[in-house]
Amino acid sequence: MTVLVINSGSSSLKYAVVKPDSGKFLADGIVEQIGSAQMPDHDAALRAAFDELAAQGLHLDTLGLVAVGHRVVHGGKAFYRPTLVDEGLIAELDKWAPLAPLHNPPAVQGIEVARKLLPDLPHIAVFDTAFFHNLPAAAATYAIDHDLAERWHIRRYGFHGTSHQYVSQQAAAFLDRPYESVNQIVLHLGNGASASAIAGGRPVDTSMGLTPMEGLVMGTRSGDIDPGILMYLYRAAGMSVADIDTMLNRNSGVYGVGGENDFRKLRERIESGDETSQLAYDVYIHRLRKYVGGYLAVLGRTDVISFTAGVGENDPGVRRDAMAGLTGLGIKIDDALNAERSSEVRRISAPDSPVTVLVVPTNEELAIAQACAALV
Ligand code: AMP
Repeated sequence: MTVLVINSGSSSLKYAVVKPDSGKFLADGIVEQIGSAQMPDHDAALRAAFDELAAQGLHLDTLGLVAVGHRVVHGGKAFYRPTLVDEGLIAELDKWAPLAPLHNPPAVQGIEVARKLLPDLPHIAVFDTAFFHNLPAAAATYAIDHDLAERWHIRRYGFHGTSHQYVSQQAAAFLDRPYESVNQIVLHLGNGASASAIAGGRPVDTSMGLTPMEGLVMGTRSGDIDPGILMYLYRAAGMSVADIDTMLNRNSGVYGVGGENDFRKLRERIESGDETSQLAYDVYIHRLRKYVGGYLAVLGRTDVISFTAGVGENDPGVRRDAMAGLTGLGIKIDDALNAERSSEVRRISAPDSPVTVLVVPTNEELAIAQACAALV
């Protein structure tokens, strides 16, 4: 059994051919610069992906494909289970597009192109918001005008849900404990970043909100800011809504403060004495620590804290600084374990640390493939 997983963004299309049972990847890749002269649209991108697979000897008609899984960022209020794609679903996703203008329209384009090229396979949408659909009302509700929030479907939806779910399941398995018995904090630190608090298998809070802009400081997104800044920029600086949107999504975060969003390069700049890079890093770590402390209070106690995604899996300095001086909260990192490199789930907390701290490589493609396999 094999599943083709497609993650279609505005300028890139990622794909993977996955065996959901064994977790084996037969191939994976990315087609970039969609919208350029060489790669005009998603149709061309998917054909290029298929050509690349064929060049590797992988022919879609002989792979035993049972489904095509599509990552869709925003399921709105209506969708949280993996859902078979039909015209009705596409119309619904179009309806929810204003909630995720950067993400959902390219996902729908990817779905439409893939359905055209692979018409005989079931196509399944897996939603990034799904894991958090049942957040407690106290965590999901914004303290704004109730009727307005209802009318415009404004609530905290949460994102990176496939990753938070996969990583928390891996963490419970690593501890050899039933998922429902473990309290967890998951820190998904990639270019986008989010935190979640999971009480006995149920997500009880997450840092991203109506959109993936809320919460932690990210590569290029601000995370939490005073909403008053938006009105101030609009009124005093004469910035348009589009200007502010671009500023918050693309010119903020670690990049906005320090001019660099790749943590490898940011670290080099810090080591060469660059003060703005240091400030960007300090702001990033400060926000992360606030969320860890906040989620410890939300949960009452946690068994495990897991780091995942590009920064969380690969940057021991971020893990060290985020967890430094927290022995009073039961968190003690072992520096030697933290410095080790591995692609496996691994413990980085000291043996006598009451809270276990792990690095858990995320694998959203595998999780999507498994969700698809379960449905078909
Ligand atoms: P993701 O969105 O999960 O793919 O994460 C991408 C980010 O991970 C990049 O922008 C880098 O900041 C970070 N990253 C990737 N590899 C490393 C590494 N070896 N050390 C530190 N940061 C890394």
